[in-house]
Amino acid sequence: MRHFRDELRECGYEVTYIEAETFGEGLDQFYDAAPGTDLVLMDPPSHGAGERLRELVAERGGSLTLVENDLFLTTPDEFDEWAGDADTYRQENWYRHVRRETGILMDGHEPAGGEWNYDDENRETPPDDWSPPEVPQFEPDEETREVIAFVRERYPDAWGSIADDSCVWPVTREQAVTALDHFVEVRLPEFGAYQDAMVEGEWALCHSLLSAAINLGLLGPREVVDAAEDAYRRGDAPINSVEGFVRQVVGWREFTRHVYRRSMPELAQANQLDQTESLPEAYWTGETDMNCLSEAVGHVYDHGYAHHIERLMILANFALIYGVDPQELDRWFHLGFVDAYDWVTTPNVVGMGSFATDVLSSKPYASSGNYVNKMSDYCADCEYAVSKTTGENACPFNALYWDFLKENESVLRGTGRMGLMYSHVDRKDDEEWDAIRARATEVRKLGRDGAL
Ligand code: FAD
Ligand code: SF4
Repeated sequence: MRHFRDELRECGYEVTYIEAETFGEGLDQFYDAAPGTDLVLMDPPSHGAGERLRELVAERGGSLTLVENDLFLTTPDEFDEWAGDADTYRQENWYRHVRRETGILMDGHEPAGGEWNYDDENRETPPDDWSPPEVPQFEPDEETREVIAFVRERYPDAWGSIADDSCVWPVTREQAVTALDHFVEVRLPEFGAYQDAMVEGEWALCHSLLSAAINLGLLGPREVVDAAEDAYRRGDAPINSVEGFVRQVVGWREFTRHVYRRSMPELAQANQLDQTESLPEAYWTGETDMNCLSEAVGHVYDHGYAHHIERLMILANFALIYGVDPQELDRWFHLGFVDAYDWVTTPNVVGMGSFATDVLSSKPYASSGNYVNKMSDYCADCEYAVSKTTGENACPFNALYWDFLKENESVLRGTGRMGLMYSHVDRKDDEEWDAIRARATEVRKLGRDGAL
């Protein structure tokens, strides 16, 4: 905000910049100096925020006009027309619709490259001697240093670490454009192949690291998608990378925004599986023998970031099969991540990650340790044995996974694409289930005691 204020002033705009504890106090200051002013504001995507501000403004004798939010590619009207009266939504259909409507990554009426979706070419794991590209760093200027000092002093006990002399998150438009250029030139070519991979000691891999800049409005969604498509058209990046990136922005980002908009306030409180456990201590301390969880929590603590698969298949998946209250998990994601805003965090955590409602996906993203083992090198260095489901040092994911399927059978058995999983459930005998339940109970106790 401070950099944006300065950039606007440099461009010749008159800017009134107010520092206050609350919006109400800020508006008091503003209206004392400029009574009766009509304000114009881009409609904030978080539920109820625009209306709350309108009330605060009206109480001070002003008026507020909300205009379309241009930090998104598609408008509420476009989504509402596409979705009609539906109350559950599927991303893939929306994604294709947007590409058809906008012409993004299209050759005439056909998707570029011939396929709509190259998901099955996004699942490679890198070879042992591969190392990811360097992450661009931005030297903090005086303004940023002041904010770092303010945060240190004001929130001494806040969870997370603060970088002292360098920062990977762009805070100006110029830095954001540098980050985008770096992504397109350096990271995008391998982004697609390794999109779902996890590698010990590597927090960024080839991900764009652009979500915070896009959510803040330092970059536009169309701009980043066009930059990726241009790289494909020039022959500088393969289709599985470019389509994968376009799908995340044009498909998922727009989709979560609209589904959130149409599903609130119920979405935030949803808990269709009646999950009530507290988060395991390890989410706060990072101290755990589970190598995958320790890595993922460490990335969030150190960088305010974990990439998509760590968010979905480690942090959310483990909480889901452990039985964590979706609202508690949602709070943890809100406080831990640099790109967190209610409109995007809540649908991803409560909808996609916790399967607390089926508005966003037709099945839970639940898996055993097998998935982690397939997509990462974490299991090789772990104290737990990924090959074991029960007994001493068995991978905690395994017993929890089967226990989760069994416990939630009445909701899950009939849901789309769960048939194969339940054919495995049906093959287990009573003795096996007793051992699974015992191990799952033990794992939850270890989680509560901070001893996982
Ligand atoms: P890349 O992997 O490079 O992807 C490119 C861009 O696509 C991202 O920058 C982002 O703008 C967009 N994108 C990709 N997936 C999603 C998605 N599911 N929803 C919305 N946008 C998406 N994203 C946030 O911006 N804020 C959050 O608080 C957030 N919380 C999440 C919580 C969970 C449990 C899950 C599963 C996903 C969450 N995401 C969130 C979505 C996604 O994980 C992040 O956008 C992405 O990891 C950001 O890193 P990146 O910029 O390197 O992304
Ligand atoms: Fe995670 Fe289990 Fe693999 Fe350990 S063995 S890294 S706990 S999935």
